[in-house]
Amino acid sequence: MNISVAIDGPAAAGKSTIANIIAHRFNLVYINTGLMYRAVTLMCMRENINYTDVKGVCKIAKSLNIHFGGDKIIVNGENFTELIKYPKVSSNVSNYAAISELRKLLVDLQQKMASKCNVIMDGRDIGTVVLKNAPLKFFLTASASERAKRRCMELNGKNISAEYDKILDEIIKRDYIDSHRTTSPFIKSEDAIEIDSSNLSILDVVEVISGYIRKYIKEHNLENSR
Ligand code: C5P
Repeated sequence: MNISVAIDGPAAAGKSTIANIIAHRFNLVYINTGLMYRAVTLMCMRENINYTDVKGVCKIAKSLNIHFGGDKIIVNGENFTELIKYPKVSSNVSNYAAISELRKLLVDLQQKMASKCNVIMDGRDIGTVVLKNAPLKFFLTASASERAKRRCMELNGKNISAEYDKILDEIIKRDYIDSHRTTSPFIKSEDAIEIDSSNLSILDVVEVISGYIRKYIKEHNLENSR
């Protein structure tokens, strides 16, 4: 029996840091779907393909050879991991991610990847669309100000300049576009467990999620496969 864990949440809620730790702890394959939308966005920006050019965007998406290696994303042989986290990609990605044709391509790919292994996947439509039948779904939130503060610290730590006000503005705009698009808007899946991390540390959240996963493993006699 496979284990699949879905984590959804707004921009900069700490999903990837938490999913990464959980993946190592429970020997799950971690797939960060936001990186895929970011990779398509960066490639389109390089090729001057605007998000209004749906055919052009889909052509780029189909040409991408995406590999996840741990928490790295390699696209057509190039390491995209850090490049796609830059604010200029963040401020454009939601417009590309709103294209239904692009979503269909990436969701198909994500579902294929997930069908082969025990997986933890994070994004905006994992519990509602990509892994609709996942037995373990989490919805991670935090206040916009807390998320902006954390994102600034993360970027500054990587020597990428980031001003709090600009990051806060970008996060709020991105959340709005993501939750108001026509195709699979970002909403909480009814059966997801909501965790507000505004006053919790990363490790506190990891412990909460780990508790649910351990319970599931025990109830389904999956101990030997862990
Ligand atoms: O998770 P991250 O913040 O890196 O995602 C970047 C963007 O990619 C989101 O703001 C959203 O527009 C898009 N996205 C999405 N569906 C997903 C994952 C990300 O629309 N499953």
